[in-house]
Amino acid sequence: MPPKFKAPRGTFDVLPEQAAQRERLLRAAHEICGRSGYKNIATPSFEDTALFERGVGESTDIVRKEMFTFEDKGGRSLTLRPEGTAPICRAYVEHGMHKLAQPVKLSYSGPFFRHERPQAGRYRQFHQIGAEAIGSDSPLADVEVITLLSDLLEEMGVPGVELRLGSLGSLEARAAYLDELKAHLRSRSDELSEDVSERIEINPLRAFDSEHPGTQAVMEDAPQLLDHLDQADSEHFEEVRQLLSAASVEFVIDPALVRGLDYYTRTIFSFVCDQLGAQSEIGGGGRYDGLIAQLGGPDTPAVGWAAGIERILLALDEEVEVPAGDLFIAVESADQNSKAVALAAELRHHGLVVEIDLAGRSMKGQLKHADRISAAHVLTLSNDGAASLRNRASNEIRDVQPADVLDLIRP
Ligand code: AMP
Repeated sequence: MPPKFKAPRGTFDVLPEQAAQRERLLRAAHEICGRSGYKNIATPSFEDTALFERGVGESTDIVRKEMFTFEDKGGRSLTLRPEGTAPICRAYVEHGMHKLAQPVKLSYSGPFFRHERPQAGRYRQFHQIGAEAIGSDSPLADVEVITLLSDLLEEMGVPGVELRLGSLGSLEARAAYLDELKAHLRSRSDELSEDVSERIEINPLRAFDSEHPGTQAVMEDAPQLLDHLDQADSEHFEEVRQLLSAASVEFVIDPALVRGLDYYTRTIFSFVCDQLGAQSEIGGGGRYDGLIAQLGGPDTPAVGWAAGIERILLALDEEVEVPAGDLFIAVESADQNSKAVALAAELRHHGLVVEIDLAGRSMKGQLKHADRISAAHVLTLSNDGAASLRNRASNEIRDVQPADVLDLIRP
């Protein structure tokens, strides 16, 4: 017996019974983003490795441990994209989008790849939807993108969602605070996890989301970034809070909020869901005012988010029924196949979901098959030219002309 294969560790198949809910989510995201003027963009599934090293940051877990990096046959280092913002900024710069009306508002969905330890809600290939507003430093842009995700989760009926909000300040203003934080961490480095202690100099903020009890104790008395924002950053944060309230988006301030990517500045946010256990974040994002310049483009402020499709579906924890077909056409013998094929083509053309027998079954077998696929109606074509239509729910049977079937069953 040849070996049977399984999907690789940390990956999964989306089966048809799960696909319907996923399609509903994608449609809702597309509509909600579209109604605020966000246009769809798609970038490749892999990029130059250096884009993520520079864009996401060399000190992050993603770049240090989680990238699927490979060499192509020409010796170039490529990486399966672990996130969507750096590629979109690359596209913004590459296509000179700074010449368009600003901000450029984009939304996307697709697969992303991180070599993480698989567990419920955490995979090695997962899917995100996201939105970015590039070219505005106004708090209105922060609030607009946050509202998109808030509306989407509400529209989908995701229960137990909380929006946490913080600010990292601008890069310059943050520098003084980071010195203070590093001094605090250094003074108690023997209590920290190895990972945090190794990264005191390059990424001290990560200590805030450590799960290590010793580190957590040290962070309880750590200086808070929100107390160290400069005036411009404080005003920006204040306006974001006011406008969110004006938009009736509820939130809580989280002074310890940090994110796993280096590019964030000022506003950061995270939508968490109490239905999800350890991997409780559904989506999040923030402002990244320095990223486009860092990728060789003009100085361009921007803000955006990404949300995990699987996490949203896990939080919903319900399957929508795969819609049943409208009609199954059964034939008394193969002599009726041409008629069945022609009629099926015509009805499908009118938007009906129509199936025919593809397995040469007997009439009895075809009727059983129509039951199994839950077709709403069954049309039987007999060799003497007669046709009868059965409504499977009511079991009502009537003699019909095939040409009348469309009007009889059109929903
Ligand atoms: P990030 O790009 O890290 O800011 O993550 C944004 C969102 O993507 C998270 O809130 C999750 O919903 C989702 N996500 C990130 N990593 C994974 C993963 N390994 N598996 C499933 N979903 C993920």
